[in-house]
Amino acid sequence: MEVGCFTGGDFAQNGYVVWCEATGQCVIVDPGAAALDMVGAVKAGAGELTAVLLTHAHLDHVEGLGVVRDYIDVPVYLHPADREMFDNVPTQAAMLGMACPELDPPDRELEDGVSFRFGDSVFKVIHTPGHSPGHVILYAEEDAVALVGDLVFAGSVGRTDLPGGDYQALFRSIREKVLTMPGETRLFTGHGPATTVEHERTTNPFLVPNYGGELA
Ligand SMILES: [Zn+2]
Ligand SMILES: [Zn+2]
Repeated sequence: MEVGCFTGGDFAQNGYVVWCEATGQCVIVDPGAAALDMVGAVKAGAGELTAVLLTHAHLDHVEGLGVVRDYIDVPVYLHPADREMFDNVPTQAAMLGMACPELDPPDRELEDGVSFRFGDSVFKVIHTPGHSPGHVILYAEEDAVALVGDLVFAGSVGRTDLPGGDYQALFRSIREKVLTMPGETRLFTGHGPATTVEHERTTNPFLVPNYGGELA
């Protein structure tokens, strides 16, 4: 598995093209402001794009969906608990004073615990509410890779003050779904640099006092 990161927009959002190197099949995760570059990478690598997976439905993670769909019609997956937020993208854009992209609805639902295959690569879908109700992370255990969206960042955690955010749920998701992964697992985040489980477990100021601690 090879992970390409594409950063763009006012929020410096990270979108990803994830490749199965053996077969050339690939998926796009969170097509934001850099979607055109992501499509360019798929074309340049002669990749066979099989799907678009969304970690959650915030504007900065979905605003490039139309760009991908203009290139190729592949199914778009979102957890149903974030569907309302997806349908409210025009409101999200208005609140931020941004232009609203034209977005067709997602095609299929992501479900906790299912395996998503492309080529020889597999992502396990893990529901991790807190930053948003339908937030998911994508875990490739064999490759020691996880795409964690806006759940946790290098040295920080996802905000919970937006509609649908839940502070307790966020920390529960991080503790039970991320910190339980092997320490060497690489975490590719929705904003900022990649990190590892061990690094965040031992240095993230939001997690150190809480790890194994009393906050539920
Ligand atoms: Zn977000
Ligand atoms: Zn974000």
